[in-house]
This record gives sequence, C-alpha cells and structure tokens, in this order.
Amino acid sequence: MSNKNILTKPDLLEENARLKALLNNTSASIFSFDHNFNYTAFNKAHQQAVKMSRGIDLKIGDNYLELAGMNSGIDKHKVLEIFKQVMAGKTVETIEEFGEPGLYRAHLSIICNPTYDDSGKVTGMTVFCQDVSERIRLEKESQERTRLLHGILDNLPVIVFEIDGQGLITRSIGSGLKAMELKDDELVGANAFEQFPTAAAHLQRAFLGDSVLFINTIEIDGRKLIYENHIFPHPDQVGNIIGFALDITQQKGAEQKLKRAKEELKRTVNLLDTSQQIGKTGGWELDVVTGSVYRTKYLKFLSGILDETTTVAEAVSFYREEDSESVQQAVRDAIALQRPYDLEIRTKTSEKWVRSIGIPIVEKGRTIKVMGAVSDISERKSAEMELVKAKKIAEEAADAKQQFLSNMSHEIRTPMNAVIGMVHLLLQEDPMPEQLENLNILKFSSENLLSLINDILDYSKIESGKIEFELIDFNLTELLNNIRLGQIPQAEEKGIKLKLKMDSDLPEVIIGDPVRLTQILNNLISNAIKFTNDGFVMVDLSLVGGEDDFLEINFTISDTGIGIDPALQEYIFESFTQAGADTARRFGGTGLGLAITKRLIDLQGGNIRLESALGKGSTFSLNLTFRKGIKKSGRQYSGPIQEFISLAGYKVLLVEDNEINIMVASKFMQKWDLEIDYAATGIEAVEKVKANEYHLVLMDLQMPEMDGYTASQIIRNIPGKTQLPIVALTASVLAEINEKVLDSGMNDHVSKPFNPMELYSKIIQYLRIT
Ligand code: ADP
Repeated sequence: MSNKNILTKPDLLEENARLKALLNNTSASIFSFDHNFNYTAFNKAHQQAVKMSRGIDLKIGDNYLELAGMNSGIDKHKVLEIFKQVMAGKTVETIEEFGEPGLYRAHLSIICNPTYDDSGKVTGMTVFCQDVSERIRLEKESQERTRLLHGILDNLPVIVFEIDGQGLITRSIGSGLKAMELKDDELVGANAFEQFPTAAAHLQRAFLGDSVLFINTIEIDGRKLIYENHIFPHPDQVGNIIGFALDITQQKGAEQKLKRAKEELKRTVNLLDTSQQIGKTGGWELDVVTGSVYRTKYLKFLSGILDETTTVAEAVSFYREEDSESVQQAVRDAIALQRPYDLEIRTKTSEKWVRSIGIPIVEKGRTIKVMGAVSDISERKSAEMELVKAKKIAEEAADAKQQFLSNMSHEIRTPMNAVIGMVHLLLQEDPMPEQLENLNILKFSSENLLSLINDILDYSKIESGKIEFELIDFNLTELLNNIRLGQIPQAEEKGIKLKLKMDSDLPEVIIGDPVRLTQILNNLISNAIKFTNDGFVMVDLSLVGGEDDFLEINFTISDTGIGIDPALQEYIFESFTQAGADTARRFGGTGLGLAITKRLIDLQGGNIRLESALGKGSTFSLNLTFRKGIKKSGRQYSGPIQEFISLAGYKVLLVEDNEINIMVASKFMQKWDLEIDYAATGIEAVEKVKANEYHLVLMDLQMPEMDGYTASQIIRNIPGKTQLPIVALTASVLAEINEKVLDSGMNDHVSKPFNPMELYSKIIQYLRIT
C-alpha cells in the first residue's frame, strides 16, 4: 500500500503555502466569518476589495456586518437571510448587483457555504464572491444579438444557411423559407448543388474562398422566386461556407411594376402627343393657386410659345389682341363664376382659326383649376367658308333653274293652252265616232303633258324651298264636293263609284291653303281612280283632334284597285317612282305625284301613310292641321263647275297680247255667250276701261309697253273702277306671283292654259251669278 497520501509536517506547510498562494492569486474574493460575523479568514483579493471600497485594512476578527453596513450597496437583510440558510447547513448561490444606482453596477456571483468544526457543527460561513459583470454583459449582449437576429430572421424574408465541405446543407433557418413552403432546418442534409443548381457556380467560388453576391431565380410550383444571395467562407469552420438569401421577389415585382408604369406613362404621353398632333388639338391646365399654366406639347407647337410653364396672359399672347382679351376674360369668368367657355378666335401670327374651350374644375365649391383644349380649326373654317360660297353658288344656280323653269313653263303653257283648248272645243262640236277616239287620245296626252309640266315645276319649286302656303278661310264641305264633282267624270268613265263621307262634327269653315289641299286630294283621288277597275273609291274625312285654335283632320282615300306591292310601298313617295315598269305607258304619270303630295303634306306639318296589298286595293291616310275658321263662310274657293249657263248680257275685257291665247279664250267665252272686247297692251286696257263699262277684266301679266300689274294699279285709281273685278291670267305658278297680283289691286288669278271650267267658275264668281 502506498503512503503517498500521508503528509509530513513540512509537506503540510508546503501544501498550505500552495493553497495560500492559490487563494491569493485568484481575482475572486474568498472569505469566511463565524456565527458572530467576525472574520475568520480572507484572501488578498477580498482584503483589497475592502480597502478599495471602504478604505480599511481588514483584519481577522473584524465584523463583516459592520463593514457591510458601511456600504449601502449591501442589503443587510439579504445577508441575514442567506446566513440563516447557511447556518441550517445549506449552500446558497446567488448573483447580486452592487454599486450606486445609476452609476457603475457590478454583478457578483456569490456562493456561500457553511463552515463546520470537527464535530460537524456549523461554526460560520465561507463566501466565494466573484465579479461576473463582464460575463453578464457579454451574455446580455449575446441575448440582444440573438433577439435582433431572430427579429430579422422572423420578419425579413431571409434564409440563413451553412453548407459543409461536402456541399451538404447543415443549417437553414429564417422566415424566407416560408415562400418555399419549408420549415427551419428542413433543408438540412440536402445537397446544396443539387437543391439549387442555378447557384452552383457561385457556391463553387465561395468554397474557393471568395465572398460572392449574386441574384438567382428559383421556380416552385410555377411561381418564380427571386433571391439576392451573399455567400462566403465560414469564419469559424474552415472548408464550410455560410450565407444568407434575401427574397426580393416582391421588391423586383414592384420595381417591374414601376418600370412598366413608367413605360406606360411614356407611351400614353407619346400617344397623347401623336393624337393631339393628328387631331390638331392641344390641352392646358391652369393652377388657380399658383397662376401657372401647363400646356401639352402640341399646344406649345401651335402657339409657338415653348416655355415649360407660363402665365395665362403669356399663353394667350399668340391670339389677336381682342381675342387674347376675350380668352383672358373667359378664364377669369371660368374661375369666378365657374362657367365654362367655348370660343372661336384667330391667331395674330399665322391667321389661323382656333377653337378654345375651357372648363372650371371645382372642389368643395372652389375653382382649383381651369382645364381646356385648343383646336386648330383653320381647315374646318376654310371649308365652312367654301361651303358658304358653294351654297351661294348652288342657290344662285337653283334660282337660275327656277327662273328657267318658270320661263319654259310659260313658253310651253301658251301653246299647250291652244292645244288643250282646241281639243275641248273639238270635243264639244259633235265629232264623228272615229274622230272622237283620236280626240280623246289627244286630250289624254295633252292633259298628261300639261300635268307633267305642272308636276316638274311644282317639284322644283318644293325642292328649292320656294313654296309658300296660304292661310285663308275656306268652306271645307264645298271644297270636297267640288273636288268630287271634278273627279266624277273620270270615275264614271271607268264604271266605278266615287264616294265622299264627312264626319258631322267637322267645321264648315277652316283656315289653310285650299289650293294645296285640292292638289293633294286630287292627286290621291285621281291615282285611286286610275288604278281601280272595279268597285269604288272612297274619300273619308274625320276630325281626329285639336287644341285651342287648331284642329286636326284625317283624310282617308281608299280604293278597291290593283294595290301596291309591299316591297315598293316604302319607295312610292320618292320622286319618279312608279309601281310597275309599264305604269307610265298604261296609265300616264311621271311618278312625281306622290312625291309632291308627301312633301306638300310634310311642309304643312302633316303626315301620310299607306296601307295596301296587291289585288286588294290601297288606302292612303293623311293627317293635316288647320286653324279654326272664325267667319261662318269665308272667301269661298270654288272648284270646277260642271254645267255652263249662259252669260249673255255681260261684257268682258280680255287683255292679252298672244294671238293664240286670244283665240282660245275667245272661243270659250263666245260659247258662254259673253260679249268680249280686246286690248293687246296695258295702255290700251287702261284706255278701254276708261271709255267703256265692263263687268270683268281678264288681265295678262306679261305684255309689251305696260304690264298687267301696272295697268291694274292705274285702273284701280280711275273713279268708279275701284270695284271692277280684275282676274289675272298667268302662265306662271310661282307663289310670289299670286301675292304680286293681289298687291297690285287685282282680285284673283287664273292659270294658263285655261281649264275651261276653272275659267268659267272664276268668271261667274266675280260676276256674282250662282
Ligand atoms: P304618277 O304620276 O306616275 O301616278 P305617283 O307618284 O302619283 O306618280 O304614283 C307613283 C306610283 O304609285 C304610280 O305610278 C302607281 O304605280 C302607284 N300608285 C299610286 N297610287 C296608287 C293606287 N291608288 N293604287 C295602286 N297604285 C298606286
């Protein structure tokens, strides 16, 4: 057995010296005291600490509590508490803070052990006390860092990773993993080169010792994730690498969006510039607060004022002075009265026409901006001027055409007068049967020719807007009866009935244009008769409405004739339209009748409708508004008369220079037993009227030396001749003529060529024979 553990006295001394040296060489305070707190031992560090803190040279037997009481940093109660536990045989370990509050505070690690005597009784306490402030500080610092790091790792889309020399991932943490649907360290064990092939080359460089920064893209389930990676050799573990990857997908997305938005804006601006250039329109905006005007590129170009921002006065300085003034006033009004404006003005430099529009932009009742557009309308303006010129030329041309037609009709009507007049006469002179047939053809053709001339003239009159409507009192019942009487011969000729039905509530006298109404109804009735071979034609009048002074009458003309193909019905009111190619040959007509009828109705504010089926007949229905007549029976318009009664005993002066007209008129008037005197000029007429007593004067209008108007005016001033009836003979059907006729004192007019019945009716009307 070894006796190595048995210590000799010199050994003990040596051992004590070593232990003492050991105790005195440690920086920890080590000391012990008995149950009265009297020091039983202490090492150098403790002695120095007491000296430092209290300025006392510590001796064995000094009282710890007394010394401790000198230092406010020591909590006496705590010391007693610990002491109590130690006396009970426990070891107490604690870390206490010492020092002045707010100043340096030391953290002390204190271990208190009981001291035993040989019998095992606790005799006091040994204290091991070490300043651990630095350790605590480092721990705190490290905790702080960890907290910070966690904060970053948890909140930034970042991944921190470590890779070992074999390329295997040994750590992978951070909330950036979530985007890859991975948890912390779920990548551990995976091969980084295989896992992230797009990063392979960069990993390689890091393994070779480089610090590498790179951006790579990873695709996961069709989603593209973009990472900014920093990798470098591991500072502690040679051969490994460490790094972090920041998910910059959103940032990149935002950058791209911004880039796209910028591109879009650029495109929009380009588009705006181009479209403004094409549309020749510039835009501007006035900031009411700063008074500065922003203008688009085109407006700068248009105005020639290229400054970036400018004032209103400057911006409008390219207009002529008065125009610039009016725009400025308009802008002031736009701001103050919140009123938009729209002006057409001219530039002073290039004499351009410009349209300037401005609108106030109002916010919470205040005008904050005025926005506007400026268009170069020079082309439109010059086109407008051209148009005005062209319109004038066209109107002149239309007038010339009108004049030409009037002249021509006059020229054609005179010989027509003769032809028709003679046919009428021949027919009344008991012709032989074979002559009768030829005469009837001649009558049909000549009347057709006359209606053609009348239609063309009427149509051109309507087209040139020259038509005027009379507003005179007339007896509606009488007018309809006369129209019916006038059409009966044609109906009888075809063996069909012409019926007239009038509502009892229709007034007797109404105000309107009886001549035009007669023309409309005659046209529709004659068409109905023309295109009906069996059955009847019915004219039906009813009152459909009326307010105040007005009344609306419906006229329905229906027949049981051939009808009109539905396909043609919508064209039937257009000019020169006939339902069948052979219509003109079989029935005559120009295809103008319905066109004229419709326009006459439209111009009087009425409307016309057609209902028809092939083989079933046609119904034309028209509505016209008239004024209510005030007189019981107005100036009566009398239609043609059927039977002639002798006018013997009456003397008529026929003022006419045309031989043929004289001959035709005379032949009829002689048939009616009238006594006729002749005058070839206005002067002669005046002379004859002065010298003789006539019952009526028939006055031609266009004559050499003195025309009919002048002659009539003179006659009206001859005493005793103021009431002498004067009826104008006119080849012109222009509305103004009628007015002129009445103005110059004549009573009425009859158009040439004479319809014998019309002439007769007029004569008896003025001779007051009924
Ligand atoms: P036109 O002078 O040739 O009669 P309109 O304009 O009066 O010209 O009529 C145009 C065409 O409409 C006629 O040619 C005929 O074909 C058709 N038409 C007009 N009225 C009737 C009707 N009552 N029955 C059948 N066809 C008609």
